Amino acid sequence: MNEASIPPPISPGDWLGMIGGGQLGRMYCHAAQSLGYKVAVLDPDPQSPAGAVADLHIRAAYDDQAGLKQLSERCKAITTEFENVPAQSLETLASASLVRPGAQAVAVVQDRIREKAFIKNIGVPVAPYAAIHTPQDIDAAAEGLFPGILKAARLGYDGKGQARVKTREEARQALESFGGVACVLEALLPLASELSVVMARGADGQAVFYPSARNEHRDGILAVSTVDARSPDQAIAVQAANAALAIAEGLEYVGVLCVEFFVLQDGRLIANEIAPRPHNSGHYTMNASVSSQFEQQVRVTAGLPLGGTASLCSVVMLNILGDVWFDDATGLKREPDWPAVLAVPGAKLHLYGKSEARRGRKMGHVNVLGATVADAVGAASRVAHALGIPFQP
Ligand code: ATP
Ligand code: MG
Repeated sequence: MNEASIPPPISPGDWLGMIGGGQLGRMYCHAAQSLGYKVAVLDPDPQSPAGAVADLHIRAAYDDQAGLKQLSERCKAITTEFENVPAQSLETLASASLVRPGAQAVAVVQDRIREKAFIKNIGVPVAPYAAIHTPQDIDAAAEGLFPGILKAARLGYDGKGQARVKTREEARQALESFGGVACVLEALLPLASELSVVMARGADGQAVFYPSARNEHRDGILAVSTVDARSPDQAIAVQAANAALAIAEGLEYVGVLCVEFFVLQDGRLIANEIAPRPHNSGHYTMNASVSSQFEQQVRVTAGLPLGGTASLCSVVMLNILGDVWFDDATGLKREPDWPAVLAVPGAKLHLYGKSEARRGRKMGHVNVLGATVADAVGAASRVAHALGIPFQP
């Protein structure tokens, strides 16, 4: 895009739009409102976390024409908080408002088959995989894809729509249990660690990166992200940032995005997936960075200069799942001991205002800050203990 075609920034006081009412939308609202914007959220759920804090909650489906019209009439620029928004809706909105990220980029990312092919094509390594449309594709899949993971091509998150399969027979059964939807079958790789890169790219092509977080997953769900502010990014993190930039440029991406990576036991870096939005592994930026990933998303949506991404301190982010509302011994519901969490120096609690705690549901997170990573880890183990969640530094 040449500079002449970049629209002028949208000033504080004006309206920004958000498609999706989950916690990412809620934290976006908070960041936008603290910069003086008003936010309209489109989400069908009357109880949605973002709808509850938005200046206007349009209660309509993501493809509801009247809802989309209301959103684009109100808002000069619109963004999203999840990848499954119909790309067609983004296209519709783009005729009247700025839409960041654009429909084209989101359409690639929301389909694992297109996403993997795109990443591979620009020369960033991905796990060996095959696109699976029929049981015959499983019969024809390379032997090296077993043991593997069958992942639904669309609508998966937090390990949902995924099955680990040791054999072709298990893969066929998993495909059937997913209702025969399009999938990717990818080889189960020997991971040494996982990291992610959260970055933002403006309409002028300028890009900024946050220090990459080291991520630990439990049962396919992110559990812990750690950032050591004192250690400059290792070679592998620089390689990851370069790969993320190539991906963002290839998509002509405007907005905040995250690329999840695997580091294999032999040291190779593999891109896992792209999130076209702020990411759970970037929640640490809310307290440990000059600008949070949500402020960054506001800046990009509004066409403002990108914010600083430097770390203010080291940090351990602990996810709070609905499980902590259940007593392990009795299985009965209980209220987590928030005072004990907040008594830990450096603990910054963020809860998403979800009314019902369910096992595996993301309810909030705690950013535990420290001058050194050892301080942050020490304090995080106290927070984890107070919540009754496992934590091995
Ligand atoms: P999320 O929305 O939380 O990112 P998701 O449902 O999109 O999850 P993935 O990111 O594909 O799922 O996988 C979740 C986790 O499962 C990964 O972070 C990793 O720990 C593990 N995993 C996924 N694919 C592989 C693989 N090919 N080899 C080994 N482990 C894998
Ligand atoms: Mg993932």
